[in-house]
Amino acid sequence: AELYNIRNWSAGYFDINAKGEVIYQYRTKQGLVQVSLMDIIRGIRARGMSFPVLLRISNILDSQISLLHESFRKAIHAFGYKGNYRGVFPIKVNQQQQVLEEISEFGSRYHHGFEAGSKAELLAALAFIKDPEALIICNGYKDSEFIDLGLYATKLGYRCIFVIEMPSEADLILERSRLLQVEPWIGVRIKLASKASGHWTESGGDRSIFGLSLPEVVELVDKLKQEGALSWLRLLHYHVGSQIPNIRDIRSAVQEATRVYTGLVTEGAPMGFVDFGGGLAVDYDGSQTNYHSSRNYTVEEYCADIIETVMSVVDEQNIEHPTIVTESGRFIVAYYSVLIFNILDVTRFTPALPPEKLPDGVNELTQNLFETYQKLSVKNLQESINDAIYYRDQIRDLFKHGDISLRERALAENIFWNIVSQVSEKSRGMKKIPVEIEGIEVALSDIYYGNFSVFQSLPDTWAIDQVFPVMPLHRLDTMPSREAIISDITCDSDGKLDHFIDPHGEKLTLPLHELRGEEEYYVGVFLVGAYQETLGDLHNLLGDTNVVTICVHEDGSYNFVSEIEGDSVADVLSYVEYDIKYIRRRFREMAEQAVSENRITVQERASILKALEDGLDGYTYYEKD
Ligand code: PLP
Repeated sequence: AELYNIRNWSAGYFDINAKGEVIYQYRTKQGLVQVSLMDIIRGIRARGMSFPVLLRISNILDSQISLLHESFRKAIHAFGYKGNYRGVFPIKVNQQQQVLEEISEFGSRYHHGFEAGSKAELLAALAFIKDPEALIICNGYKDSEFIDLGLYATKLGYRCIFVIEMPSEADLILERSRLLQVEPWIGVRIKLASKASGHWTESGGDRSIFGLSLPEVVELVDKLKQEGALSWLRLLHYHVGSQIPNIRDIRSAVQEATRVYTGLVTEGAPMGFVDFGGGLAVDYDGSQTNYHSSRNYTVEEYCADIIETVMSVVDEQNIEHPTIVTESGRFIVAYYSVLIFNILDVTRFTPALPPEKLPDGVNELTQNLFETYQKLSVKNLQESINDAIYYRDQIRDLFKHGDISLRERALAENIFWNIVSQVSEKSRGMKKIPVEIEGIEVALSDIYYGNFSVFQSLPDTWAIDQVFPVMPLHRLDTMPSREAIISDITCDSDGKLDHFIDPHGEKLTLPLHELRGEEEYYVGVFLVGAYQETLGDLHNLLGDTNVVTICVHEDGSYNFVSEIEGDSVADVLSYVEYDIKYIRRRFREMAEQAVSENRITVQERASILKALEDGLDGYTYYEKD
C-alpha cells in the first residue's frame, strides 16, 4: 500500500485486501463493505466486454455529494451562519447523460443543481433536473437563443440565474426578458484581483477572459437602475480556476468577492446569492501539500473557511447572510471513475552481454569504450558514464560519415548499454548519486504497453502534465520487481504515462510486476472522473471505451447499473465523416474484382468480406482472441 501511497490519495474509497487486490470500500453502521476490483473485472469479462473499461462506482458519487453538503451543513451550524448552501454541478466537468442523471438523483435531497456554460448544457440540465428548488446557473457567452431558453425555463418554474459574463450581454437579457415578459434572476461574474497558484488557474486574476471588471460592474448597476431592473440582480459570481491547492488563495478570493457582494447590496440590489465557482481541489498524489496535484486543506476546512470569511465580511456591514453557492465539479466526480486496462506486452532494456574479446580491426574509439566497460568499478562510476557517453557520441558520428559499419555501431551501442546497466546496478542504494547517473533508472526502465489511449481517456496527462494515481489492481501481495513507464497503443511518442505520483513530488517510473505467461495483468488509473471523458479525442481513431457502472450494496453484493458499449470502428469512422455504406460497397467491389481476376475463390471472398465487416463492427482497442 505504501509503494503506491493508496491510503493517502484514495480518500478511504480504495485499499488493498489480504489477497493483494485493490478493493473499493465504504463504511456502514455494521462495518466495512468491501468489493475487489478484480471481482468486478471477472464480472465484466463474464459479460463478454473487452478492456479498456471505464468503471464508475455510483456509491462514490453519492458519497462525494453528501460529503460536500454535510461539510457545509456542519460549518453553517458551527458558526451560527443564517444563510444556506446550494451546490451546482458544472456540466462541462462530465457531460455524460448517466452522470447527470445520477447527480440529479443523489443530489435531489440537497437541492443540488447544475451550472450550464452553453445552450447544449442548458438543455441537458433542463432535461435532468427534477427538483424545482435546485439552481441552474447559466454561465458562458450567451446569444438570444440561449437567453430565450433560460427565460422559457423560468416560465416553466425552473430556478435559472443568468450570469452576465460580458458587459454586452446585459442589453440582450433586458431586451429578451421584456419581449418574453419574464423577470429573470441575473447574476454578475467578476474579475478578481486575487489570483490563485496552480495548474488550472488561468481563469482568475485581472486578466481573466471572462467576467466584468469592477468599473464595468458599476456601469452595469447604473444601467439596471436606469432600466428599473436592479431588482433582478441576485447573484455575484467568480471562478478563479480549478484545482486550487492552497487554502490561502481560496480565502483571499472569497474575502475580496464578499466585499463586492456587500457593495452591490449597498447599491440597492436584492442579491441573496454569492457563487464562489469551482476550485475545490482533489488530492491526486495524497501529499496534502500545496503542490499542484494536491491541496493543503480538507473539504471541511474549505467549507469552514468560506463560511467564516463570508460571515465576517457581511456581519461587519450588517448585511443578511447570503446563500452560498459553489460550482464544485472535480471534487464531486473525480473519485467516481477508474480506467482499467490490460497490459499487452513489455519491452525491456536489458542488453545482451558484450563479447569477451573485440573482433579484430575495430576502431580505436570502440576499443576505448570496451576498455571503459572492463575497468568499471564502484570507484569510477561517474567517470565511466562520462567516458561512455563521449565515446558513444563519437562512434555515432563516425557511423554517420560512413567510417564504421552497421555491425560495429551495433557492437558499440551494446557495450554502451552494458556500461549504463552496470552503473545503474552499482549505484543502487548509494547515498549520494552523482548527477550524471540520475535518470539512468528511467533510461533503463521497461516499457509496459497498456491497452488504452492517453488521448482518449487521460488527455490531461498529455495536455497539461496532470498526474493520476496509477497502480496494478492485483498481485499486490508480492513486491513488484520491475520499474516501468506505460505506453498506450496510439503509436504516438506522446502516448505514454511517464510521470507518476509520489509524496515528495513526482517520479518517472512505476513499480510493476513481471508478466506471467498468458495471465492478464490489469492496471488502474484512478480519480479520472473529472474532465477526462469529455476532453478526450479520437487520436488514431481509438474511440470511447466501454463504460460499466456498478452500485455496491450493504451486504457486499453489487449490480451492474449500466453497461455502455464503447465506440465501434464504424462509429469512429462516421464521426470523422466517413460514409460507412461507401466503405462496405468498396470492399465488395474489390473482392468481386479479385474473384473475376481469379486471385481469390468465391469462398475466400466470403471470408474476407466477413473479416472486413467484423472489423467495422469491432471495438477500436486491442481485442484478444
Ligand atoms: N465553474 C466554472 C465557471 C468553471 O469554468 C469550472 C471549471 O474550470 C468549474 C466551475 C469547475 O471547477 P472545479 O472542477 O475545480 O470544481
